[in-house]
Amino acid sequence: MPGAKPAAAPMKVAQVPNPGADFQIVERDIPKPDLGQVRIQVQACGICHSDVLTKEGQWPGIQYPRVPGHEVVGVIDELGAGVSGWKQGQRVGVGWHGGHDNTCLSCRRGDFRNCRNLKIPGISYDGGYEQYMVAPIEALVPVPDTLRDAEAAPLLCAGITTFNALRHSGAMPGDLVAVVGIGGLGHLGVQFANKFGYRVAAIGRGSENAALAKKLGASLYIDSSASPAEALQKLGGAQVILATAPSSRLMSALFDGLAPNGKLMIIGVTSDPIEVTPVQLITGSRSIQGWAAGTPADEEDTLRFAELTGVRPMIETYPLERAAEGYARMMSGAAQFRVVLTM
Ligand SMILES: [Zn+2]
Ligand SMILES: [Zn+2]
Repeated sequence: MPGAKPAAAPMKVAQVPNPGADFQIVERDIPKPDLGQVRIQVQACGICHSDVLTKEGQWPGIQYPRVPGHEVVGVIDELGAGVSGWKQGQRVGVGWHGGHDNTCLSCRRGDFRNCRNLKIPGISYDGGYEQYMVAPIEALVPVPDTLRDAEAAPLLCAGITTFNALRHSGAMPGDLVAVVGIGGLGHLGVQFANKFGYRVAAIGRGSENAALAKKLGASLYIDSSASPAEALQKLGGAQVILATAPSSRLMSALFDGLAPNGKLMIIGVTSDPIEVTPVQLITGSRSIQGWAAGTPADEEDTLRFAELTGVRPMIETYPLERAAEGYARMMSGAAQFRVVLTM
């Protein structure tokens, strides 16, 4: 038909139609970037355990259908109005930090990580389980050329969380740092801790992870079922225990493995209470802290550090069409160690 506009090209997305429902692969029109946004042709998107928030409707106010995904790597293919400093064809990533309002008290203090109106890709707006994604520029991070798409993606949530928690933990080179759990977070935590110059004690269940933990950079391996706090005390006590395994019981049991002024740094998400007495905290002035991801500037530091030192996630990849299978694999806990969708 002369003069007729061609129909907008469709794209494939893996969406959650309703809380708790199965994934659907559907076609949608390719979205247009709005003011201050870019459109990204997605190349890879990690599947994170936090995607359960979207899948099962565990975050208040999510609108459905919703496309999960906050470990996104791709190429900018269109700029919205008012965008400067980013260009078409540029490789970028989008992590957990999906945008901030610049106006709340935390933002006015420069603490964008704790914005009261923090946006999260895949929760506040559609994330990376799709061929094209729109994101605000304050969520973007440039991706170094030497990092492959599928390897860079998990660094934008699992990577930055372990990297940022460790570098803000107060541990110094040479300190004994325990990384608890050899999984999606822990296998990166061990690598970063090694490259930061710590003496790394990896703590895992059973003995089967010992060889892998040492290959990743642990100086020693402790079986979590065999009095791990005592084992740490025999080594002088840990300056930092990075708890990646989502077990409050194990976190409680490990607390007495801390050295004086030591810190239990928590990034493993669970809703069960940790049991520690005031006496335990006061003796040796020991503390507990939680940590959540970081800003795109922190993501940039993470990617550059990984590029510099060779830290890489171990991944299993699935094509976008098999998102449900990839998600189930992640949920099974059997993946070695991060599942990544490729487009
Ligand atoms: Zn995540
Ligand atoms: Zn804010």
